[in-house]
Amino acid sequence: METMIALQCSNVKKQFGTFAALKEVSLSVQQGECFGLLGPNGAGKSTLISMIYGSLSRTSGSIQVFNQDPQVQGRAVRAQLGVVTQENNLDSSMTVLENMQMFSRYVGVPKAERKKRITELLDFMLLSHKSSAVIESLSGGMKRRLVFVRALLHKPRLLILDEPTTGLDPAVRQLLWEKVAELKKSGVTIILTTHYMDEAERLCDRLVIMDEGTIRAHGTPRELILKNCLAYVAGVEKIEKTKLQNLAGITLIEDPHHLLLSANSLEALTNCFTEKQIKPIFIRPSNLEDVFLKITGREIADND
Ligand code: ADP
Ligand code: MG
Repeated sequence: METMIALQCSNVKKQFGTFAALKEVSLSVQQGECFGLLGPNGAGKSTLISMIYGSLSRTSGSIQVFNQDPQVQGRAVRAQLGVVTQENNLDSSMTVLENMQMFSRYVGVPKAERKKRITELLDFMLLSHKSSAVIESLSGGMKRRLVFVRALLHKPRLLILDEPTTGLDPAVRQLLWEKVAELKKSGVTIILTTHYMDEAERLCDRLVIMDEGTIRAHGTPRELILKNCLAYVAGVEKIEKTKLQNLAGITLIEDPHHLLLSANSLEALTNCFTEKQIKPIFIRPSNLEDVFLKITGREIADND
C-alpha cells in the first residue's frame, strides 16, 4: 500500500564548518499538498532543498522522500523528484529544444516519448514559439519558464520550486501560479520556497516560517494569521506615533515604512482615526506579511 507521506524530515541538521545553517528541522509533507518554506535570505531553505534532492549531505537527522533516503537511494529519489533550483543553470549556447532534448536523455525519458513530451511541455508553458531560440537570447521570465518545464520532463511525483518567481514580472508570476495549481490538481506534490507572502497565501496548503536555520511557525496560512495577528491592520505615517500610544484594543507595530495599527474590530480602528484626526494610508485584513513580520521581526526583502 502506498504511504500518504511524500517527505519526512526529522531533526535535520546542517553544519558548514562551525556555522549551523540548519538546526534540528522537522517537517512532513503529505502527498498531493502544496507545502511552503518561507523565510528571509539565509534562513536555510535552499540548504534543506539540496539535502532533499541528495546533492548535499546532512550533518545529522533523517530525510525520507517517498520512504527513501536521498543520501542512500539517490537515483531512486531523484527519479521521482523535479527540482527548479534557485539559479537557472542553463547552458546559454544551446537552443530551447536542444536543452530539453539533452535533459530528457539525462533524466531517462524513453526515446520514443521524448518528442511528444517536449512538445507538450513547451506548449504547457507557452514556449513553443521559442523552441529554436538560443537560450542566451531569452528574457529572464522565459528562462525561468524553461527551467520549470524542464523539471517536469520525467513526470515527477514531487516537484520542488526554489523561489520560482523571484524577480519575475507579474504576468509570468501569474502564469506560473496557474501552472502550479494545475499540477497540484493532477496529484503532484509541491514544495515551494518563496519570500512573496501573497504567493504563499495563494498556493500553499500548509507552510513553515523559517529563520536562522530553525522553524519558527507552522500551519495553514489561515491558522498562522489567526494565531499571530489581530484581524485588521492599518498603516499610518510614523510621525503620528505620539498620538497613538496606549489605545484600547489596538496594537502598535513599527515597520521600516509605517506605523502599523492592528485590531480585531474594524470599527475600533476607524473610530480611532476619526477621534485623532489621522488619515490612514491603508486599512486591510491581516495577511501572511503581518505574520512574517511578527515572527521574524523583519520585513521581507523583495528581491535578493
Ligand atoms: P536561503 O535559501 O533560506 O536563503 P541558504 O540555505 O541558501 O538560505 O543558506 C543558509 C545559510 O547557510 C546562509 O547563511 C548561507 O550563507 C549559508 N551557506 C549556504 N551554503 C553554504 C556553504 N556551501 N558553505 C558555507 N555556508 C553556506
Ligand atoms: Mg535560497
